[in-house]
Amino acid sequence: MTDYKKLGDDYLLKVYNRFPIVIERGNGCRLYDDKGKEYLDFAAGIAVFALGYGNKEFNDVLKKQIDLITHTSNLYYNEPACIAAGEVCRAVNMDRVFFTNSGTEAIEGAIKTARKYAYLKDGSTDHNIIAMEHSFHGRSMGALSVTGNAHYREAFEPGIGNVRFAEFNDLRSVEELLDEKTCAVIMETVQGEGGIYPAEDDFIRGVRRLCDEKGVLLILDEIQCGMGRTGYMLACEKYGVRPDIVTLAKAIGNGVPVGAFAVTKEVADNSLVPGDHGTTYGGNPFACAAVTEVLRQFKEKDITGHVRRLTPVLEAALDELKDKHDIVADRRGAGFIQALELKEPCQTVISRAQDNGLLLISAGANILRLVPPLIINEDDIAIMKERLDKALG
Ligand SMILES: *Cc1c(COP(=O)(O)O)cnc(C)c1O
Repeated sequence: MTDYKKLGDDYLLKVYNRFPIVIERGNGCRLYDDKGKEYLDFAAGIAVFALGYGNKEFNDVLKKQIDLITHTSNLYYNEPACIAAGEVCRAVNMDRVFFTNSGTEAIEGAIKTARKYAYLKDGSTDHNIIAMEHSFHGRSMGALSVTGNAHYREAFEPGIGNVRFAEFNDLRSVEELLDEKTCAVIMETVQGEGGIYPAEDDFIRGVRRLCDEKGVLLILDEIQCGMGRTGYMLACEKYGVRPDIVTLAKAIGNGVPVGAFAVTKEVADNSLVPGDHGTTYGGNPFACAAVTEVLRQFKEKDITGHVRRLTPVLEAALDELKDKHDIVADRRGAGFIQALELKEPCQTVISRAQDNGLLLISAGANILRLVPPLIINEDDIAIMKERLDKALG
């Protein structure tokens, strides 16, 4: 039998410390490794597989599209992209969308849009962007430049420049950095990689108000927390906040690589024009067929309602674990993006959970992150609790 771990270690560029598991297939909320061991998956490929693995209707749509056509370039119209564009705009209450292949590219597009919008207003090219400490927006140079984790950025400086970092959930710190040259404030509605910190009501509404007063664009990165994960299509809906630009990826493709940034009409009409931005693969018929089917199933299965109904069950299970185990310092999150903060690094707990048949990931050294498929049921939560209980013990 081929040793895939060794093969991978020999040839894949070493930028990940992978867990010693070779994943072979999935079904619903469960994954199976090459030895046939079953895992309950509370990682979902990093908040991607919202609708679960082996989703027959989803897979059938993909198979059908493969036989029709998978790529056309953006020099022509294609049916799936036109349909998906309308569906995405309606789902997230935006007016225009640009499809990308990843989250980081969605951020690049959002940054370019904000800069062009400001450029058209005053003709200058010295605008700044306010981003948040402990944020994560991706690994390409632009996205990295607005990522508030110096460790990720350091070796790759200089970034795009003119980026200032405010403290998340500290409105004063945003106010202090904002000036007449600020073109955008960018932030996650719920910080993901940074440790699962939801925006506070006053903060996100205050930022929206500041941006309105100063004519600054608000970019909300909903790549991880959006697409139903908090029980709302966009996490910002709960706060009654509408961004000027929103970025999406991860769950929008349910395993097919696709992202998007969507904008209001005001932004669309006053920013990018033909020639300003583009992509070869982005918005291809294969990815867009996936997006439309994802959104169709979201409606059919009332995914956001399901998440809202089960959130108290998930939170109660995690709170019980917190109360029982001294090593757990805190539980926080929103909907199905939850964290247990430990008093020590969480690698041992993650490994023990894996041994017990539960997949979890971290968000920072001490923070266990739970981002399960959005279709988990009460039994799955009970099984998670039992296995995590053992791992914490
Ligand atoms: C994952 C993530 C990204 C980057 O998406 P990729 O598809 O990995 O490029 C950006 N922002 C947030 C909030 C994310 O969670």
